[in-house]
Amino acid sequence: MYGKIHEIYSSISGEGISQGIPTVFVRFAGCSLRCGKTDTKQLWCDTPYALGPNQGESKSFEAIIKEIEGLDKDHGFQILLTGGEPLEGKNREVSTSIAQHIFTYRTREGKPYPAPRVETNGSEKITLDSFFIFTMDYKLPGSGMENRMDLENFQILEKRHNSLDEIKFVVRDRIDFERSIEVIREQKIQTNILYSPVHGEVDAKELVEWIKIDNPPKCRLSLQIHKVLWGNQKGV
Ligand code: SF4
Repeated sequence: MYGKIHEIYSSISGEGISQGIPTVFVRFAGCSLRCGKTDTKQLWCDTPYALGPNQGESKSFEAIIKEIEGLDKDHGFQILLTGGEPLEGKNREVSTSIAQHIFTYRTREGKPYPAPRVETNGSEKITLDSFFIFTMDYKLPGSGMENRMDLENFQILEKRHNSLDEIKFVVRDRIDFERSIEVIREQKIQTNILYSPVHGEVDAKELVEWIKIDNPPKCRLSLQIHKVLWGNQKGV
């Protein structure tokens, strides 16, 4: 079993409810979405270097586990499966095996963060499996990708009832924010909600004012701490 891997490295989690936790990142290559790209606007993807499947190296499940364990010998780090898209195509099978393996070992040995967190783009079906924690994007109109969202994922998140799951809205403008409020109401979302501004397009302070007025349940502003610490660098 092989996955297309762009990079594996350790740092701290940059965003969301796990922000600041020491983390091993497994970045898969390959994502069929192209967020933010319109006739007049640029792609806003943070990882354009990992969008094509050929931007990764084929690595076996065993090799990936060995690299993870090399970076986290005591099994004390959170494991984050990200991309690209870790659930797209053949990456899904490898992500599932990694998560099952880590969850089984850490549960048996009483280690922290047993279930790896998966950052997924909302177009791939998530699962009820307890060996995964999900950070699931919902792509708003400004991304041009809203029609790719799998709405059944909201029912799955509700059934999972996992207090560590989160939904991320990346907001380009006021229209996006208003749409997010509609989605939260329509889908009766109970999961943790993250709001992130598109860099250079909406001021985070303005987004805070919008959040204060509507204040959807369990929501928070989520800025990317790794960019504050290291700027727009790769592998940190
Ligand atoms: S889904 Fe994620 S990886 Fe894919 S284009 Fe959008 S931001 Fe980039």
